[in-house]
Amino acid sequence: MKQNSRKEINWHKIPDPKEYYLKYFPNLKLATEWVKVVCPFHDDKTPSLSINLKHGGYICRGECKTKGNLIKFHMRRHNLGFVEACKSLGVWPYAE
Ligand SMILES: [Zn+2]
Repeated sequence: MKQNSRKEINWHKIPDPKEYYLKYFPNLKLATEWVKVVCPFHDDKTPSLSINLKHGGYICRGECKTKGNLIKFHMRRHNLGFVEACKSLGVWPYAE
């Protein structure tokens, strides 16, 4: 069985982006769909990282130019592979 398809993961179990990102950015303002925070992936002086609190996507307009979805953020933030990040977030559909 193929076990690395992004289509097959349990997207409905993905954490709520607001709750998830609030853990990493406690001062997050939840009033708008897009919020700006200091990017954890480069030496950021101004808030360069835009996060979408509806779908969980993010994009850095600063030096590192990183972008992705909530899973990718989790991978980068904790230095995990795709499968490990999915398991950590509770969205991996396969048993051990
Ligand atoms: Zn950045």
